[in-house]
Amino acid sequence: MNTLLLSFLLTLVSTLTTLDEQKALSEWTPAAVVSDESIMAYGIDSCFKAYPINDAIFARMDGKSFKKNCTMPRSSLRYLRVLHRNVEGKTQLGEIVCNQSIAADLLDIFRKLYEANYKIERIILIDNYNADDETSMRANNTSCFNFRVVSGTTKLSKHSQGLAIDINPLYNPYIHLNNGKVEPATGKPYAYNRANLRNVKVPIIDAHDLCYRLFIQHGFRWGGAWRTVKDYQHFEK
Ligand SMILES: [Zn+2]
Repeated sequence: MNTLLLSFLLTLVSTLTTLDEQKALSEWTPAAVVSDESIMAYGIDSCFKAYPINDAIFARMDGKSFKKNCTMPRSSLRYLRVLHRNVEGKTQLGEIVCNQSIAADLLDIFRKLYEANYKIERIILIDNYNADDETSMRANNTSCFNFRVVSGTTKLSKHSQGLAIDINPLYNPYIHLNNGKVEPATGKPYAYNRANLRNVKVPIIDAHDLCYRLFIQHGFRWGGAWRTVKDYQHFEK
């Protein structure tokens, strides 16, 4: 093959990739991986934005995270577009539903985490897991709004109001200190002796962690500081 033809084909492949990526960005395809060049062309400010819950998003949530008995008005919730670095360090599209009162906090925190190359494996709506927390946590999915009770109680969780978020939950599990139960169950290897964990794909959340520091600066409380349970993935306001 002559060099001119090869160079033409390479340009064509690169143009097609860019077109695919621009489509993923304009449609905001959850978990799509895009190049930094595509982000530059699209505009980074458009990648950290809050929107009202439109009908298409609501259709995904209805009967799942937004259960029939949901007492949260849809109008108090926001759909956020965010970017994050995945476990390979690549730029991935994320989506979060949260309470409107913390939308600006989350946009600022996720932008700072992205700029610091902080790894988060996946941020897609928990409705993709039928709003089942255990399944979403096993997939190490970061999520916020879900109309549900606190695990093991009848009390409504702060997730029900979209005021709590769980970050990289598989590697930052939730431990019931009274009975030793770990959620997700597959997070057991990351539940104890956390300062000595090695070869973990994402940062371990502790008091030195950037994610921890950003949430605390924004006035959130950390579940890892609680005494009867340790909820390392959890921040709430
Ligand atoms: Zn939580």
